[in-house]
Amino acid sequence: MRKVLIIKYGEIALKGMNKPYFERVLMERIRKAIKGFAEASVWRYEGVVFASTTEEARLEEMALEVAKVFGVATVSIAAEVESDPETIFPDAAEYMREARAKQVIRTFKVEAKRSNKQFPIISPEIARKAGASCLKGCNDDPDYPLTVNVHDPDCILFMDVRRDKTYIYHDRLAGFGGLPLGTNGKGLVLLSGGIDSPVASWMMAKRGMNIEAIHFHSYPFTSDRAKEKVLDLTKILAGYCGRIKVHCINLLEIQQAINENCPEEQMTILSRRFMMKIAERMANDVKADVLITGENIGQVASQTVQGLVVTDNAVELPVMRPLIAMDKVDIMEIAQKIGTFETSIQPYEDCCTVFLPKHPSTKPKLESIKLSEESLDVEGLIKSAFDTEEVYVINPE
Ligand code: ATP
Ligand code: MG
Repeated sequence: MRKVLIIKYGEIALKGMNKPYFERVLMERIRKAIKGFAEASVWRYEGVVFASTTEEARLEEMALEVAKVFGVATVSIAAEVESDPETIFPDAAEYMREARAKQVIRTFKVEAKRSNKQFPIISPEIARKAGASCLKGCNDDPDYPLTVNVHDPDCILFMDVRRDKTYIYHDRLAGFGGLPLGTNGKGLVLLSGGIDSPVASWMMAKRGMNIEAIHFHSYPFTSDRAKEKVLDLTKILAGYCGRIKVHCINLLEIQQAINENCPEEQMTILSRRFMMKIAERMANDVKADVLITGENIGQVASQTVQGLVVTDNAVELPVMRPLIAMDKVDIMEIAQKIGTFETSIQPYEDCCTVFLPKHPSTKPKLESIKLSEESLDVEGLIKSAFDTEEVYVINPE
């Protein structure tokens, strides 16, 4: 029996007139994700997306890649057989025999769907006959019996009868849902080496946004290794988002200027406003629609609501903060799930820690922050920060 992937999408199914567009982009994304498999192909058949390769032994690996594509709700490895009432029931039994050789299945039930209304047998009858065929074909070993259990089965066998082909499958690998990349503009993420901003990038990408990144360091106060950590994180993100460009900017001169000219407790908030201003200009240069940060209300001194208001005021471009109201444990859980956590917790210094004030201001006043900025050559500092720019293009593994 030939095996293929049957791919279901979640939210795209709810789209109205735009559905074909989203489906097309989704298929392009899947195609990209599996281009390393021999003769990989992707097609749509009666409202469902399928994928195959001639390397059937690698189908599981391919399913894992497809599950990472945003927009995909579930992926299953299915046997593709002819929609022939004479053969689909023996085929179901053969599928079940193979499945039971790979994993322990003692109880099962069948769920059938007949999208081909020309097929002469109705769905409940398909389920009943497939069940009977499996029971008959899989009960030759008294020590490994197979029985039906409709309430809590080890396995639900799906029979999806379509016009020419029928798909038989059981396991479903969960995807992340969301919308295909590239269907929702572009965001420039302020990417640190911490836990939050990689998660924020991933969450926006999951809603279809293309991602580009800007990272600030304070070399030589921060090490090369700290920058490499950010590039490592970007590599993990690229596994979901495709190629990501990272712009690295040295913030040291700005931090030194603040340190020399402004009250100590304003260090953090002033450098954050500089980061935002530089990011905004970069966003305009690279045609990003919005900025993205991993800010989260109340998490640290600079992220009090007053701190966020003063940070936000530095730029005109909308700033998306997908983590704003999340609890840290939930952010950490996503970081674990997407694979960034272990890298994020590596102990390398961040530029923010370089001139960390003992008592950062938690209730900054915009007027006094602006007054402090007047003592600085903001334009000149931003210009020379841009002169330090290094660009890295990070491809998926
Ligand atoms: P993270 O875990 O993302 O580093 P954090 O909890 O350490 O966040 P902050 O250091 O206050 O919080 O940073 C808040 C946000 O500001 C980050 O999520 C990120 O978007 C941005 N940011 C902070 N440091 C940098 C940096 N060195 N380069 C680029 N962006 C940064
Ligand atoms: Mg940080």
